[in-house]
Amino acid sequence: MGKLRDAFENKETEQEETSFLGKLFSSPLIRGFYKEEKPVIDVKLDGNKNEQLRMTALINEIANNSPSGRKILEDAAKAGYSFGFATQPGSYGFCSEEDKIIRLNPMKKDAKLIATLAYESRHAQQHLRGIPTEFCTFDVATELKLRRATEADAQAAAAQVALEIRAATQSDKVWRAFEQSDPDITRSVDKPSVFKPVSYVVENSEKTMQAAFTGWFNNWRIIDAYEQGYLYGHLMQAGRYSDPAEAKKFFEEKPFSGHKTSAEVLQMVCVSDKGTCYFADDLDIMDRNTRMCGLCKETRTAADMFFREREKVTGQKPDTSYQDLPNRGGLFKALEMAMQGMMDVKASKSPTDKKAPPPSLAAALRRLHQGR
Ligand SMILES: [Zn+2]
Repeated sequence: MGKLRDAFENKETEQEETSFLGKLFSSPLIRGFYKEEKPVIDVKLDGNKNEQLRMTALINEIANNSPSGRKILEDAAKAGYSFGFATQPGSYGFCSEEDKIIRLNPMKKDAKLIATLAYESRHAQQHLRGIPTEFCTFDVATELKLRRATEADAQAAAAQVALEIRAATQSDKVWRAFEQSDPDITRSVDKPSVFKPVSYVVENSEKTMQAAFTGWFNNWRIIDAYEQGYLYGHLMQAGRYSDPAEAKKFFEEKPFSGHKTSAEVLQMVCVSDKGTCYFADDLDIMDRNTRMCGLCKETRTAADMFFREREKVTGQKPDTSYQDLPNRGGLFKALEMAMQGMMDVKASKSPTDKKAPPPSLAAALRRLHQGR
């Protein structure tokens, strides 16, 4: 999502990289030649000819093989999003409602970018259905669950599209690329025999998406990165304004008001092609699962501080929505472990590279984020 991307990316380098690297990585030199064809859906493409042909190949792979994917792309196109490439270190792509753009990282392989295109277009579809992109809109408990649900749902949609393409093409290529980047999700999904027709995979979409959504929550590193980016980082900004007028404006921009129950969050986010909620038979799942509704202690402390400060500045009563949420452990403890894990991976890959400095927290977050 665009806003979270801003928290993780270096915007200044991005533009230059976009113009040069973006073109290079979609050029015939790196990718070979793409078929001269038109996209089968009516969508605005950005970029030079090679980039447009590459994007067309990705769009058509989805639209010609996956009925669910086609609908998602059509909705994004109808909402006015244009598709293009932009280099983003440590990320596969992003969707910005503000700029009405979907961008894919040209340095990644096409098999992976197909699922990414479905994923980012699903975010566009979520915005289209009225899910606000501005963080800190609803109360803390709702924000926590809503932002997690939008990410898990976008991955669930990508998993469904990858499975439909697998059935239509009888090739595991797209599914395997998805599996490599998101094994927690693919492991949770009951993969049908490759000989089952697309219609069978479509019929089972609600079950598949439920399983993929739930699988997203098995990756606590991603959950931590999002809790940091969506909530903790915003809450921690309270108290930095000494000028009362500036402080007032800051709190006005972060209303944290309005509550949705977990069931309402799922009904808003987890909508199938048929317009029904694919969690209709299990609407209290988020309340039963600490990974889905739990809060880290640092975020809780930051929220207490934020609302104390807000009351001082505006007189508004504090948000109490998060008080009864279960504890999910320590945010930075988890991040430290994640960083340690990445360093171990690095060390095992290149045992001679012992002098590599430890990654910064920002770099760790960028890597954890992976373009979600
Ligand atoms: Zn996302």
